[in-house]
Formats: sequence, structure tokens, C-alpha cells
Amino acid sequence: MEALFGGSFDPVHLGHLVVAETLADVLGVTVRFLPAREQPFKHAAHAASPEQRAEMLALAVAGNPRFRVERVELELPTPSYTVRTLRALAGREPGNRFVLLLGADAAGDLPNWYEVEALPHLADVVAFARPGSELRAHGLIGRVVTVPALDISATAVRERVAQGRSIRYLVSDPVREYIGAHRLYR
Ligand code: ATP
Repeated sequence: MEALFGGSFDPVHLGHLVVAETLADVLGVTVRFLPAREQPFKHAAHAASPEQRAEMLALAVAGNPRFRVERVELELPTPSYTVRTLRALAGREPGNRFVLLLGADAAGDLPNWYEVEALPHLADVVAFARPGSELRAHGLIGRVVTVPALDISATAVRERVAQGRSIRYLVSDPVREYIGAHRLYR
């Protein structure tokens, strides 16, 4: 089985990678990182484009046989509704059943999703949560997996770059080099 891990990945950081590796391990699945097409910071100078976010993901997952990048949302209309994405994948890969990985924040927002009633037909939902989280499985969430909590966010990575500070060990080396070479987030 394959799992989908969606996000803006602006940029992908070690928090994402630890979560994905833990879920790959616990669930026995491969993980496809699913960058959303929206550019949350598109008005900021030196923001990463969707293509650049996908390229950074490709660098970050290289060498991990359980990881890959799923670019389907980059070709779909915005906003990237997950149900619409899952339908596009089902059309492209009939018979493939996916596990949708959701952080506690996204899992809590699930009832408000566009066409959420179609979700159970399209994917199994696994939520991941930090140790000690209150999150429980319920109708839409089949399982909750505890993952190590690394206190890293993409926002903090971008802020550090803007301040000229180091992001070494917060993102993988190839991603750090890419950010520097493309002068992102300055
Ligand atoms: P931003 O700071 O720009 O909001 P982010 O670091 O939260 O970004 P996203 O691309 O939005 O990154 O994250 C995708 C998913 O990964 C979300 O469900 C988010 O909860 C989860 N996630 C992000 N950072 C971590 C982390 N350090 N530990 C565990 N989960 C994380």
C-alpha cells in the first residue's frame, strides 16, 4: 500500500521526513509526498514556486526507497482539494487504494473538507500526532499513529533564511544547498 503525505513543503524539512519515515515503518507503506499547488507566500519576494517546492522534495527523498514525490496536484486546478486529488489518482491508477496521512491540525479540520463524504470511498485515513496528543480515531480517522515531535516548521526555516541564519540540520543538505543556490526566502 501507498500513503500520501500532503503539504506545502515550503520547504520540506526534517520534521516532515521523520514523520514520513515513522509512518512508512509503522504502517509498512511507501510514502508519496504530495506538494500542494497553492503558493501560500506567492506575494513574498524570493518565495519558492510550486515547481521549486517539488524539486526540493525530490532532493530530500532521493536515496530513500520508501519515499517518492507525487506531482499530481501541480497539474490540477487550485485550490488543491484532497478529494479531487484522490479522484485524479484513482482515475490514473485504478485499483490502487491509498492511505491518506494527516497531521493533527488537518485531521481536526476534516469535517469541513470539500466533499468529505466521498473520502471513505477513496482512501483510508491515518492521523499522526505528537506523543501525548489527545487525538483519537473516529468515523473518518481509521487510526492514529504517534510520531516523534521535532520542533521544526517551514515558517521557522524561512524566517531563519530571511535573517541570514543557518538552517543546517533543520533541512537536508541538498535542500539547504538548493535554497542557497536559488536565493529562496531571503
Ligand atoms: P508552515 O510552517 O509553512 O505552515 P509546516 O512546517 O507546517 O509549514 P507543511 O508543509 O504545512 O509544513 O506540513 C505538512 C504536514 O506536515 C502538516 O500536516 C503538518 O502538521 C506536518 N508537520 C509539519 N512540520 C512537522 C513537524 N515538525 N513534526 C510533525 N509534523 C509536522
